[in-house]
Amino acid sequence: MKILNGTALAKKIKLVLAIEIEYLMKKHERAPKLCIILVGDDPVSISYVQNKKKSCNEIGILCDLSILPYSTTQDELLALIETLNNHVDVDGILVQLPLPKHIDQTVVLQAIDYKKDVDGLHPMNVGLLNISPDAIIPCTPKGILSLLKAEDIPITGKHCVIIGRSNLVGKPMAQLMLRENASVTVCHSKTKDLACLTQQGEILIIAIGHRQLVNADMLKEGAVVVDVGINNVDGKLVGDIYNSIDVTNIEKKAAAITPVPGGVGPMTIASLLENVVEVYKRSVRNEE
Ligand code: NAD
Repeated sequence: MKILNGTALAKKIKLVLAIEIEYLMKKHERAPKLCIILVGDDPVSISYVQNKKKSCNEIGILCDLSILPYSTTQDELLALIETLNNHVDVDGILVQLPLPKHIDQTVVLQAIDYKKDVDGLHPMNVGLLNISPDAIIPCTPKGILSLLKAEDIPITGKHCVIIGRSNLVGKPMAQLMLRENASVTVCHSKTKDLACLTQQGEILIIAIGHRQLVNADMLKEGAVVVDVGINNVDGKLVGDIYNSIDVTNIEKKAAAITPVPGGVGPMTIASLLENVVEVYKRSVRNEE
């Protein structure tokens, strides 16, 4: 069974981006800039945004991180987003999810200028993903596709089964795989006889956030398995299926799998950096 190494590919992508940014900075006399907003002090979210900032800085992207108190009102958050929307030197805006319960996530995501929406979650980008190659693609599905392509995994004509239908992962992943000419089945919490569907998946993408729901019996022989899930077990980061108790049977059955950590996670960050550079390039092109 082949391990699809997201860490190695993400490193290569970052190296290429760093060279491109150096060239673009000289040409346009300014660096790409991302503004990240986090509301609240959830330690997991703080570690995510700090990691994103660090990755930006490593390759020459300027990154402003605003950590706002949990008590921040929706209007205050919307006012900050409007300021950043109007700032010509801000290329990308990212609001870290989830938001506190008193703030409407849909309203906030719609308030971001879709041209600066590096998470690809604005309705305009969601719509463009269906009909145009110009959409800003959500980072996790984009990273998964880059990894499959870099590993020469054939997609055209394959049956891709996705477990999970979130706006962040499952739905855009389905759209992307359709675009790549796969036949796509999306499963979710109300799916009946999940195993019957997963056993047909030549590419099986698991994005649930529950360990042990999928086992080796549910895989098709020779399947390529993408484990998106992140679970914390006794302080250790584990996926939905990778290295589960069924590990020997999974190893025998799957052709390839993404590890956790080191698979989808680093590719998500690499794709975020690619999205920041993309929106920057579109912005400087408009300034010319
Ligand atoms: P989510 O909670 O929004 O969605 C989970 C999905 O799983 C839902 O669509 C639900 O219908 C489905 N589901 C739940 N129980 C099920 C069941 N019994 N059978 C079939 N389907 C079931 O989560 P999300 O944002 O899509 O994230 C999913 C997982 O991926 C989480 O563990 C998250 O932490 C992880 N994740 C990882 C990355 C990364 O970069 N590695 C990025 C995003 C999300």
